This record gives sequence, C-alpha cells and structure tokens, in this order.
Amino acid sequence: MSIPMVNLKRQYALLQEELEQAVLSSLRAGQFILGSNVQHLEQAVAEYCGVKHAVGVASGTDALHLALLAAGIGPGDEVITTPFTFIGTAEAVSYRGAKPVFVDIDPKTFNLDLNQVEDAITDATRAVLPVHVFGQPVDMDALNALCRPRGVTVIEDCAHAFGARYKNTAAGGLGKFGCFSFYPSKNLSAFGDGGMITTDDDESAATLRALRNHGIRQAPVHSMLGYNSRLDDVQAAIVAVKFRYIDEYNNARRKTAHLYNRLLKDLDVVTPHEDGIGEHVYHQYAILSDHRDKLKDALAAAGIGFGIHYAMPLHKQPVYSQMYQGRSFPNAENACRQVLCLPICPQINEQEVQSVCEVLSAAL
Ligand SMILES: *Cc1c(COP(=O)(O)O)cnc(C)c1O
Repeated sequence: MSIPMVNLKRQYALLQEELEQAVLSSLRAGQFILGSNVQHLEQAVAEYCGVKHAVGVASGTDALHLALLAAGIGPGDEVITTPFTFIGTAEAVSYRGAKPVFVDIDPKTFNLDLNQVEDAITDATRAVLPVHVFGQPVDMDALNALCRPRGVTVIEDCAHAFGARYKNTAAGGLGKFGCFSFYPSKNLSAFGDGGMITTDDDESAATLRALRNHGIRQAPVHSMLGYNSRLDDVQAAIVAVKFRYIDEYNNARRKTAHLYNRLLKDLDVVTPHEDGIGEHVYHQYAILSDHRDKLKDALAAAGIGFGIHYAMPLHKQPVYSQMYQGRSFPNAENACRQVLCLPICPQINEQEVQSVCEVLSAAL
C-alpha cells in the first residue's frame, strides 16, 4: 500500500490534457514575464475574492513581504501573528526589520486567540497577520473590529485557505491584503513556486505592481526600491487551469474530512473542530493524539504519508528562540506535540481513507 500525503500525480493524470494545452500555449505565446496568463489569473482571483486587485508574485513568502512593505511596515514596528504557522509568515515580518509578536492559539481551531491579540496590541503595533490555519478562516469580523479603530492593518495569510469562505466572502477579501501561495501542495497550486496578493485599495495595488517589478510604475522610471518577484506566465497558465476546479476540489476535501471524522470517532484521537463561523477547506486534516509518535510510525510502516504541521512552534525555532527566551505559548506547544496531519487532497478516495483509519485503529 502506498498513500501519499498529497496525490499530485493523480491530479496531473486527471487534468493532463488541459494542463499541457495551457503550458504549450504559454510557451508558444513567448510572453514569459508578466504575460497575458498572469493578467487573466489576476482578474479571475480578484473577482473570486470580491476585491478590485490581485497581483501575482514569485511566492507566498514574497506576497507577505511585499504586502507588509506596501502597508508601510518597517524597523521598530510590531506585527502580531501566530507561532503555530509556517516560518514564512514570520520571516516576512523580519525581512522588514519589524518584530513578529507571537500570541497563543485557540487550542480547538489552532487559529490566533483573538482575546490575546487584543492584549498584545501596543503603540508599536502596526499590523496583525492572521493565518487561516489548515484552511479554517479566522473570525475576521472580530479581528477587524479590534484593528480598525486602532489603525492597525490586517494582512491575511491565506496560504492554506484559497476558496475558504467567511460569511460569503472568500479569504483574501477580508483584510486590507490577502496573501496566497501557489506552492505545489496548496489547495490552489502551480508546478513550482508562485503567489498572489489581493487588495481592494487602488494605491496599494499600484505600489505592489511596482514592488514586484524593480520599482517600475511607468517604464523606464524606477520610482522606488523594488524586487524581482513576478509570477511566471507558465505558472499562471497552470494555476488558471486548476482554478476552474477549486470549489469542486475544496468540496472534495471537506467530504474527505467528514469521512475521516466518522471513521475516527471511536478512536482515542481528537478530530478537527469546525467553529461554524467560516467554511473550512481542509488544506490539512489535523488530528491530535497523545500517541502521535506511535501513530506516525504505524503510518510510515504501512507506506502512508503524513505531516507534522507544525513540529516546533516558531518561538522555539533557533531563528527566534533568542527573541523569545523564557516565553511560553502553551496551546501552540501542545499542538506541536500532538498534531498529526493525515493524507488529504481532492483526489484521495474512500478506500484510501478507510485504509489510513484502519492503520491508526490497529496502532491504538
Ligand atoms: C506555504 C506557506 C507560506 C509561504 O508560501 P511559499 O509560497 O512557500 O513561500 C506562508 N504561510 C503559510 C502558512 C504557508 O503554509
């Protein structure tokens, strides 16, 4: 038996004709940098998220970095975020010379604990960077209500959450900026790196377009210090094909998650909690168990993929441990000790989900 964490080969086989057609047409058009596929994808994503602008960039990490730049975040500023996330979230803050201020998570949803966000706001707080962890939207009305009156910018890390809805608005349309990654394993993905920033603000969008392209607002003038961070036309063509299926794919992820819930309900594991405020799109299906390592070994022995997201909270990572010496975020630490992410993708089938659950059941 072999069940990968994410079955990209099966996805490719199913979409092969469309994907190869799209790549070929990009190659034949010969407009590799900021070509028409990028423009079309930007329009489609902006419309989907209910905002005026989307700006393609080279990665999700760059999306966060450039959004923070466009928001005017710099040295001495504080940006509140979660320690239970991928390193890219905090790295982007550090690239600006700003301080990532970690606050603990809600133990059930793994998302930022908004009560603790309020307590962490200081005069130096310029932004809050919530992550819709594993695909479940943060309670954005509550977060915006905390931030707007204080002039604090909200930048969503939507890397797990393409297509996740919160009160009829898609993630990416809920803060001042939404930052997406098209890393191959994400819900909407490329065949390499890529990312996108959404915003409703005209001036910020113009700044982001300049920042990603060497500071050019109007060629040949470099009006600011910019970067080389463009989304490739070929990658945009690939993402655009998968974008046609994103709602279908997310529904399939939800169905798989609910099947796991049923099959695991009598085992001594904690299945994911849906808070019912937003719609979870299950980028990850994450369970908690005191016997995580035993389960992990059993899956490995059976040829079943899994993920430990996240193995270490960011305040314990060497890159941040100095800054956070002696600080503790118990809910994040506990989640890191117990979490186990099971195979999930739109193409996994019922038989495979059953096999995963049988292996877990036998190991317990
Ligand atoms: C993947 C990811 C990123 C970074 O995306 P890249 O495209 O790999 O740079 C940022 N934040 C979170 C939560 C992620 O999972």
